[in-house]
Amino acid sequence: MWCAAVALIGLSAWLMGTGLSDLVRGHVLRSDLSSAEADTVGPALLVMVVLVFAAERLWPAVPRRVTARGHIIDAGYLGVYALVAPAVTLLSTGFAIAVERYAPFLRLARLPLLPQVAVVAMILLGIDAINWAAHVANHRVGVFWRFHALHHSQEEMSVFTTFRTHPLAHVSYLPAVLPALVLAANGSVPTVGLVAYGCLVTLPHANLRWNYGRVGRWVVSPAFHRLHHANTDVDGMRAVNFGFVLAVWDRLAGTAALPHGRVVMETGIGGRPVPLEQDLARPSAGRVIVSQLAQPFRLRSGLES
Ligand SMILES: [Zn+2]
Ligand SMILES: [Zn+2]
Repeated sequence: MWCAAVALIGLSAWLMGTGLSDLVRGHVLRSDLSSAEADTVGPALLVMVVLVFAAERLWPAVPRRVTARGHIIDAGYLGVYALVAPAVTLLSTGFAIAVERYAPFLRLARLPLLPQVAVVAMILLGIDAINWAAHVANHRVGVFWRFHALHHSQEEMSVFTTFRTHPLAHVSYLPAVLPALVLAANGSVPTVGLVAYGCLVTLPHANLRWNYGRVGRWVVSPAFHRLHHANTDVDGMRAVNFGFVLAVWDRLAGTAALPHGRVVMETGIGGRPVPLEQDLARPSAGRVIVSQLAQPFRLRSGLES
């Protein structure tokens, strides 16, 4: 599994090199990378994170200090995410170029009478379905779990936990680029749609009891996603609720556990295999983050999927 983790670096480097050479040739590198950063860690997303963090003070699922160690480290991961956003763009670009080069038949021709709203809906549905499948793989494929475990290690979840993600974990979600590639000749999702999708992915990590009532049977709520982060089995299953925005995929696959009427569960990974900020007497944020990011490359990581 250690070799596979190192191989993932090689694959990422190749894809990023492919993306870089294409962007440099197209002379759009700087504008493309800065716009990617603006899209992902853009003002709308940051405003939403601040508002949700304020809501967590008013209606917390688990009452906690603003300066809890988990909050500080996860806010640090927001900074890491902003730094790696251009690299993630290179990865996605490299992946898209590789698909066009080796599987051009995936790209559909222009379909007559297909309204733009239907194209946008199909792309977003496709992205969410692929994110669900990739997330399942993150739990069931050993090498991916090595990188995903960091996200699950948090015992003091908040809206910032969305960003507690190993940079190499993004590789497993690259297939989510496919719906936009397949339908490229028919239209694309406007930036506002992608930012709205990003906000809906971020909100479920909030330390809130919100289950969205009846809507929460179909849309992922903070209470629904908290069950995914539970540190014990739920309904006899080791992991449930893999959905990003829609709960539909879990309901179809039989991996859904609805939160309605349940007690708030503790989060984290039993046995604490990932180095944790809550374990240390005087944790320095930088050292904690570096040790957590290095964890997947240990020969004996202690992380079994
Ligand atoms: Zn997960
Ligand atoms: Zn999560």
